[in-house]
Amino acid sequence: MVFRYPDTRLLINNVWRDAADGRTQDVFNPATGLVVGKVAHASTADLDEALIAAQNGFEVWRTTSSVERQRIMREAASLLRQRADDIARIMTIEQGKPVAEAKVEVLNCANMTEWFADEGRRVYGRIVPGANTASHQMVIKQPIGPVAAFTPWNFPLNQVTRKLGPALATGCSFLCKAPEETPASPAAFLQCFVDAGIPEGVIGLVYGNPADISEYLIASPVIRFVTFTGSTPVGKQLAAKAGEHMKKVVMELGGHAPVIVAEDADVDLAVKAIGMAKYRNAGQICIAPTRFLVHESLTKAFQNAYVSYSESLKVGDGLAADTKIGPLANDRRLSAMEKIIADIKVKGGDIVTGGYRVGDVGNFFAPTLVVEPAKDSMLFNEEPFGPIAGLRSFKQLDEAINEANRLSFGLSAYAFTRSFKNVHTLADRVETGMLWINQPATPSAEFPFGGVKDSGLGTEGGHEALEEHLISKAVAITGI
Ligand code: NAD
Repeated sequence: MVFRYPDTRLLINNVWRDAADGRTQDVFNPATGLVVGKVAHASTADLDEALIAAQNGFEVWRTTSSVERQRIMREAASLLRQRADDIARIMTIEQGKPVAEAKVEVLNCANMTEWFADEGRRVYGRIVPGANTASHQMVIKQPIGPVAAFTPWNFPLNQVTRKLGPALATGCSFLCKAPEETPASPAAFLQCFVDAGIPEGVIGLVYGNPADISEYLIASPVIRFVTFTGSTPVGKQLAAKAGEHMKKVVMELGGHAPVIVAEDADVDLAVKAIGMAKYRNAGQICIAPTRFLVHESLTKAFQNAYVSYSESLKVGDGLAADTKIGPLANDRRLSAMEKIIADIKVKGGDIVTGGYRVGDVGNFFAPTLVVEPAKDSMLFNEEPFGPIAGLRSFKQLDEAINEANRLSFGLSAYAFTRSFKNVHTLADRVETGMLWINQPATPSAEFPFGGVKDSGLGTEGGHEALEEHLISKAVAITGI
């Protein structure tokens, strides 16, 4: 059978349908620049229906047992695994990443969905002894209510899973505005839940104008929880809007991860781990390493090894078997890379590899390292969200820690050292939500995933992710 990239419609009450006014927008393949399909563009009338569905779905799902929720979520995960090859291909066509990476993402989402399904069985309240022994005091955990989720294009499935898993596990309904640029893979993911028998209204999926949709959904009295992944400026706007309506939020925002390579580090290990972490998804990852802070005694060795690793990676269409770095997901990223390089040329810094667009069709950019970029360069201050990193050397560990903490971001950080003393100092002092020592990032469902400072609020991993979606109701009973 010939593989065909599917058009995407809106999912309301388990039915896929066009927008009420029939509006659509084009979807492009970032490797070719060509239109590959269409996505429905929701109007207010569609959102109203989706909200009613989410309210009704919540009433059903909150009273569904955790055993039954677990069964449906596990069945969806199993369907996702069976469909992994097709969904990975869809993702590569709309997003660009190498198809092997896309498949890993799909399979990880099946694992994460299972973990959240199981963790939903472990939501317990507690009994709290009070001053009055005639009174029984209980804390009951209840789902907060319908969730509005806004997910981005860099990990079209993973970003939905991290929000959907804890919402469904705790009994919340889930209305998602997924990315218009990569719409079909999240749609195929949610189809697995429909096929697994999830009740109508529990999940919904819409696309359209992001700002209009978020404005409308956040203000709706139906929505009780708002979760967003994307840039810090947009996250601040949405969190402010949610605050105006007194709604709880989880915000997964930008990062600018420092990598501290201490004097006693294993350089080969550092380059291998950081190279992998940097170039996955062509660097379009919020936890991507960006500021390499290397002890002066190791700078040259690190630089040489990192450059040869970077130059060994094949840049190309994600559907080709030997591609290691696909195109950037949209042309905004390509111009962002070009701006960063232009700024280096003005402010100073040595571009030791890459620094240019590859070809003139598709959004390909060469893996790039800049040595000693100016401290006030765009590269060392703004999230590049692409395959560019900067390297500066340091003399004392303190200097590197101060540099790591200098920016307002605090999502992920990496360090390489063989000393326990250094590990303790770094764990204590680096202002970050996640710290990976002597390894690339290995985020998993059971581990908290979230940032501090301007990188966000709350977490999307571990039991803590479920807690975000629960209210703790205090019930005191006397006289029975
Ligand atoms: P952007 O900030 O406009 O959009 C980021 C995401 O937010 C997109 O999915 C977009 O659809 C959505 N969005 C934008 N405005 C919105 C609104 N008012 N309401 C609801 N959703 C909204 O920029 P972009 O060009 O798509 O991405 C650029 C930057 O976004 C990157 O440099 C990166 O910093 C950040 N980003 C971060 C992540 C992440 O995983 N944390 C993912 C994607 C993008």
